[in-house]
This record gives sequence, structure tokens and C-alpha cells, in this order.
Amino acid sequence: MAQVEPDRVLTEALAEIEATSDLTSLEAIRVRLLGRKGEVTAHLRAVSSLPKDERPAAGQAWNRVRGGLEGALEAREAALGSPGADTPSDDDFDFSLPGRRPPEGLPHVLMQTLDRLVEIFRSLGFSVADGPEVETTHYNFTALNIPEDHPTRDDHDSFFLAPDLLLRTQMSPVQIRTMEAQEPPVRVISPGRVYRRDHFDASHSPFFFQMEGLYVDTDVTLGDLKGTLREFVRRFFGKELGMRFRGSYFPFTEPSLELDISCTVCEGQGCAVCKQTGWVEILGCGMVHPNVLRGVGYDPEVVSGYAFGMGPDRITMLRHRIPDIRHLYENDLRFLSQFRGAS
Ligand SMILES: [Zn+2]
Repeated sequence: MAQVEPDRVLTEALAEIEATSDLTSLEAIRVRLLGRKGEVTAHLRAVSSLPKDERPAAGQAWNRVRGGLEGALEAREAALGSPGADTPSDDDFDFSLPGRRPPEGLPHVLMQTLDRLVEIFRSLGFSVADGPEVETTHYNFTALNIPEDHPTRDDHDSFFLAPDLLLRTQMSPVQIRTMEAQEPPVRVISPGRVYRRDHFDASHSPFFFQMEGLYVDTDVTLGDLKGTLREFVRRFFGKELGMRFRGSYFPFTEPSLELDISCTVCEGQGCAVCKQTGWVEILGCGMVHPNVLRGVGYDPEVVSGYAFGMGPDRITMLRHRIPDIRHLYENDLRFLSQFRGAS
């Protein structure tokens, strides 16, 4: 045994370890060389039976081999993966197994509604207008013909930040800003978030979405308004639905109307959602009040316009039969993931 060169054994074994591609083969090399009956182990044992003067050199040489191998095995094992885990080779890979789908995100159901509203009204010739969420009382109330003593100005309804500054309670300020910035014709929608001091319950939230529309031009009539809304209902709900307009009151429109559609849940038969009437209100609308037109520098003798405002939260709930508005704001993925591609 003394004639076997320790350096040659080490060199060959290191090359073999380096070429190993899995932990099983690596373990086999370790057993063959360093195991209880391994080749290097045998050389180390044989040192004691050598002539006395040869023992120190041989012992040092084979110990160096063992140390080198242990280091190389450890490094290779770390490179190949954790101990005990087998690294799959191409032979282990079953290409016929079904793949695992990574979780896929989707737009929030409210965003799907807003996208759809924008898409429908864009195709009807409206463009999208935006404005600040923090408004002055002038834009939020005064310019909209809402008198000083009107109950919506009460601080029980609005979040005031300063005497003249509040979180907008409606999207109408955007209409005023748009009309101030351009001459008629104006044809815009303004979707966005509004704030009111309501308690969170099944049908109220202190913040919610609104989308308002405005069309001002020469000769805009109530007939134009009704025609546009009929087309909107047909496209949004995907079918012809019964519609009825009821007289109402808003400070910024005259006349003012509310639009009911036949209940989408019971098809007009009567249910809890429509309170057994067969009808549900979906929006308020009317012809823009002459005071509002005058306030932005338009001449109500020359131009006229209509405006409408709807609640995307409410129509989302009606369309998907969602009984509680809080579902829309709790961000529970088990709830939200139901609306994949719902728009
Ligand atoms: Zn109903």
C-alpha cells in the first residue's frame, strides 16, 4: 500500500466530486473513500503496520487526503442542495403533470364597474374630467346653487378641514371647474371618491364613489338626457329594462328627476332589494339650473345642459346582488375573487 501515491488519489477524487451532479452519487463517493471500509480509511489504518520510520510521513499524507476530501465533499454538497434532498434530473421530471397556476390578481369589482362606466360614456362622446378631493365651500356648494342654510352644508354631513375647506361631498365641483375652464360644448363624466359623515352600515359608508355626467351645448333637451340614460342602462345591464323618471329636487338642476329601473334581482316581481315595489332608483338627473350656468359665465339664454349623478357602489351592488356595501371596502380576497372578469 505504501507505493500508492496519496496525491494521485486526492487529485482523481476531487475531479470526480466536482463532476458529480446529484447528492446520491456524492454520498456514494464519500462511502467508497472515507466510509468504514473506504479506500482512504484503509490507507490510514495501514499506517500503523508500516515500518516505524515511514509512519509519520504516510500518516501526514493520508490525513491531508482525508481533510481535502472532506472539505470538497462538504462544498459540493452545499452547492447541490440541502442534505438528504435529491436534486431532480430531467429523468425525474414528469412533463405530463398539470402545471400549478400562480395566483392571479384582478381589478377590484368597483374598479371594474368604473372602467365599464367610462367605456360606455366614452363611446357616447363623453370625456373624463378630474378634480381635487379637498374642495372649497365655493366649488362644493355655492357654485352649485346650494344656499348657505341648506342642510347638506351642516357639518354633520361633511368632513370640514377648515371653515372654507372640506373633503368633497359630491363630484359636481368637477363640473363647475370644467365649465370655468372651457367654452361650450362641454360633454364630460367625472368618476371619483366622495366623503360624507355617515356611519358604516349595510347601505352607508363614510366614503364612496360617484360618477357625474354633464352635457352643455345649444339646444340640449330633457329628451337628449333620457335618450342617453336609456342607452347607458341598456349597455350597462346588458338588456332592455323597464325605466321610469320621477320628479325630484336638487339645488343645481331644474327640473330634477330620479331614474328608477325595474329591479334586476326579481325582474320587477317584488323582493327585499326593491322593497317589494319592483323598482330601484339608480341615479338623479335634471337640466342644469340657470344660476349654475350663469355662475361659470355661460348665458342660459344661449346654452342649456343636462347633468346626472350615479353611485357606482350602488349599481355594483344591484348588478351583482351584493347585500352589504361594507363588502366593497373590507378587501376580503375570498369575496373579491368571485368577480373575475365580471365587468
Ligand atoms: Zn326586486
